[in-house]
Amino acid sequence: MKVLFVAGDPKPERWTVPIKELLPEAEIHVWDANGPTVDADYAIVWQPPAELFEREKKLKAVFNLGAGIDGLLAVPNLPPHLPVVRLEDAGMSVQMAEYVLHQLLEASRGMETYREQQREGIWKIHRPIKRSEWPVGVMGLGHIGKRVARTLSDLDYRVNGWARSEHDLEGVTTFAGADSLPHFLQSTRVLVNTLPLTEETRDILNYTHLSQLMPGAVVINVGRGEHLVEDDLLRAIDDSHVARASLDVFRQEPLPSDHPFWQRPEITITPHISARTLRDATLEQITGKIRAHHSGQSITGIVDTSRGY
Ligand code: NAP
Repeated sequence: MKVLFVAGDPKPERWTVPIKELLPEAEIHVWDANGPTVDADYAIVWQPPAELFEREKKLKAVFNLGAGIDGLLAVPNLPPHLPVVRLEDAGMSVQMAEYVLHQLLEASRGMETYREQQREGIWKIHRPIKRSEWPVGVMGLGHIGKRVARTLSDLDYRVNGWARSEHDLEGVTTFAGADSLPHFLQSTRVLVNTLPLTEETRDILNYTHLSQLMPGAVVINVGRGEHLVEDDLLRAIDDSHVARASLDVFRQEPLPSDHPFWQRPEITITPHISARTLRDATLEQITGKIRAHHSGQSITGIVDTSRGY
């Protein structure tokens, strides 16, 4: 079996050495734009060039080094029937739950206020949190959204969850489909986006939707930058309808230094770190699936390219 690694890492051996250890029966190759065709059976990729699919015609499946496959599906020449396999959790959902909890606590426990007080040497106690005032709404109830929803519900926050299909999650009030979105938003003060980027979800964090949230809303975006209409967020903040936003993903990354978000005290910016790809867990999952697929077993995580996730 031949496996081709295509990820533009200047030190590909960081990946190929563990891949060889986990999959000793395979011949491992690194993509070379000027090199010959390898006739690979499997490709492990992150943002591959379009030439990959022009050149490698014997691929049986392509494994994405991330959960979001919007970038891969946009590559021209991706053969329509080639199985595309996304990363399933692989240590990301726990990181996402931590990140979202941290951002939520900043707001619900007023941590910024205490930091300001410390700077001025002020010892002042504010009233305790009323959880009923901080209902959270998680958009997307997949590997990541479910873990986020469960974590916050375990801490006695009121949690709503919204997905395309019906879900039954203990401690979470669930909503399904576009028709239920207004009801979900109106019951939510802290909106957490964990959706994949698809034609249906692009621009979903827009003024119409943000203005349906409960007053003093908080927006936490860990999905993709293209989910958020940036000017609409600024407008909702200027209206004082949205009180703060924590953004980990942006339409343009790195976020340009003259971007207005940098100047807004209501916005917390992190550089796409809410859930890092963990190499060991990632490669264990992918090589396990390659071995299973090669021996004719079914594998999970194959993307439905028609719905985009
Ligand atoms: P997933 O398991 O595929 O879950 C996606 C969820 O979104 C599902 O619950 C799905 O509904 C729901 N959904 C999709 N389209 C929808 C629509 N039109 N309306 C309502 N709900 C919709 O994905 P995941 O592993 O949780 O990852 C989610 C996303 O997180 C990724 O695509 C990626 O963009 C992002 N991500 C970001 C980072 C980061 O560092 N910032 C890291 C990893 C992932 P159903 O359950 O009904 O199918």
